[in-house]
This record gives sequence, structure tokens and C-alpha cells, in this order.
Amino acid sequence: MKWEVIYSNILKVLLLKPINLWVYTMEVKRLSEAHITGTEINYLFVCTRKLWLFHHHIEMEHNSEYVELGALLHEESFTREKKDILIDNMIRIDFIDKDGILHDVKSSQLMEKAHSMQILYYLYILKQKGLTNRIGIINYPKQKRKTEVVLNDENEQEVIDAIEKVNQIISLPIPPDAEFIKLCKPCSYSELCWS
Ligand code: SF4
Repeated sequence: MKWEVIYSNILKVLLLKPINLWVYTMEVKRLSEAHITGTEINYLFVCTRKLWLFHHHIEMEHNSEYVELGALLHEESFTREKKDILIDNMIRIDFIDKDGILHDVKSSQLMEKAHSMQILYYLYILKQKGLTNRIGIINYPKQKRKTEVVLNDENEQEVIDAIEKVNQIISLPIPPDAEFIKLCKPCSYSELCWS
């Protein structure tokens, strides 16, 4: 190989590495600053008012059976796995199995879109950290069902759009108006919204 080619390749590596590192650092910094959690991505697809209230730390007592059932399922399923893996104080993965597959445990299939966007967001964050080609599985132990989720170009754009949308909603000075949906009944904010 000619010396000019070798020099040119070394120069490319020296120039590209800091650029890649900079792009990666900026992306992680941007997401950490926004501090969007997986739950917030999920709520975007459930109810934007719920997303706003949750983000602004407006908490209500969890007295619904539905919430209790979810917590119980989380505790009592997959008992041999190490649970609740917190990454950058931003995403909390239910557990990662021995093959490196991410798992989320849900009690009902009612909001499948929200569930898949939440786990896609986890895969997206891990990709920003250089952990590519990961698979996510949403487990519905009550229904004995699993759904596999893989990040691709199309749904990655959906995740990026969702992050933008979450940012728009949480920046609003007041919460969006309440709109009645099926999930209002078991929602912990139902008293706040409807009484
Ligand atoms: S009660 Fe309904 S409208 Fe209110 S936050 Fe919950 S889901 Fe949204």
C-alpha cells in the first residue's frame, strides 16, 4: 500500500473517531437532559394528559385493582431473573435474560402499541450506547403470550418522533384536557380528571 493511502486512512480514523464519539455523547446528553423515561413514552400512546401529570410529579394514590395486579404480576413472574435494571436513571428494564434479550412484563394487552413503543425506546437508548441488534420481548404472563420487538429503520424513526412529541407535551404550561377512554376507569388520575 502506498504511504499516501496509509496516511489518508490514519487521518480518516483520527478524524472520524472523535466525530462519532461527539455524536454519541451529544445524543446521550440530549436524551439525559430531556430525561424521558420509558413510562413517559408509554403514556404518550395511552393519554397525553396522563403523560403531563406524571412528568410533573403529580401523584395520586394507587388504589386501583388494575395497578395492584400489575405490581403483583411484576413481583411474581420470572422470579429467578434479576429485575428492574435501571440505566442512566432514564430507563428501567424489567429484566435481561442470559441471551441478552430485554424483557418487559405487562398485565394486559389493551395498550400493545404503548408497550411496544416503550421497549423500542429501551432498544433505541441501548443503541445510542453502542449496544446494537438487541431484541425485546413483551411478556403477558396472565394471557400466556409474548410479543417480540426488534428495532429497525422504520420504527426507530417512530421512536425519534415519539421523543419529540413527549417533549412538546411535557413543555405545555398546563395539562391537555381530559378525554374519556377505556383506561380512565383504572387510571390513578381518574378522580382528578372526572370528579
Ligand atoms: S383518567 Fe383518563 S383522561 Fe385522566 S389521565 Fe387517566 S387516562 Fe387520562
